[in-house]
Amino acid sequence: MSEKMEMKDYKSGIRPIWCLGCGDFGALSGIYRALAELNLDPHKLVNVSGIGCSSRTPYFLKAYGMHTLHGRAGPVATGVQLARPDLKVLVTGGDGDGFSIGGGHMPHMARTNVNITYVLMDNHIYGLTKGQGSPTSRREMKAYSTPYGSTEEPMNPLLYMLTYGATYVAQAFAGDPKMCAELIKGGLEHEGFAYVHILTQCPTFNKLDTADYFKDIIKDVPKKHDVTNIRKSIRLIYKFKDKEPVGLLYKTRRSTLDECMADFVRQAGGSSDYDIRKIINLSRP
Ligand code: SF4
Ligand code: MG
Repeated sequence: MSEKMEMKDYKSGIRPIWCLGCGDFGALSGIYRALAELNLDPHKLVNVSGIGCSSRTPYFLKAYGMHTLHGRAGPVATGVQLARPDLKVLVTGGDGDGFSIGGGHMPHMARTNVNITYVLMDNHIYGLTKGQGSPTSRREMKAYSTPYGSTEEPMNPLLYMLTYGATYVAQAFAGDPKMCAELIKGGLEHEGFAYVHILTQCPTFNKLDTADYFKDIIKDVPKKHDVTNIRKSIRLIYKFKDKEPVGLLYKTRRSTLDECMADFVRQAGGSSDYDIRKIINLSRP
């Protein structure tokens, strides 16, 4: 593709119907910017999502898109990537979709190192269903489902992804679309499972974790941090205590799921050209 793409070239023409002030706008702007900086051909991009406010992203992106089932974006994206390893696969979704309904899939995407980029917009609440506690909600947050606060501790998605073996882990705040773009771009360039966590405010239903709250708690990953050292990345999260590190936390390279599958095909005497049908023994009519 010879022409230089701009952010506007990735806009589908469908305007987001998110509420005014929603953090998902910042994350989407980061996605547009990252794609433009990569000059990625929209025909080479597939955006897969589950259900939720942030899962509406495929409608707003000029690319192939699949708005799938609640929590099931990961398995669908894994299938897309294995069938078409020549495409970039981007998953978008929220905290409830990813870590509650889809919580069983997240570890396995990280473990298998499937070559996709997962952008998770975390507003610590279910927005689309009008305000219920999610796995990342603070205990003191009162919502329709938890009018007296929650009995559950919020999970830490960064520690979760690091310990399950994600090979690229980063976090940004939606109020800084440039940082979102830089980290999403890095994720799309990365070979392997790239997890980009974006802190997004939901001004309509989460009155506790506002944009100002996120601004107060974020702290840059130190420039001298060794992103190749997983122990140091985990230690940094604990060291930051109540602060949320923003920036690239971890990056390493190991065989991706499609590379492993291609290797199995070769070992089984198949063609060196990767073909998923040879593994699952399907034949064309
Ligand atoms: Fe955004 Fe919350 Fe409105 Fe959903 S309900 S669009 S997450 S502000
Ligand atoms: Mg949410």
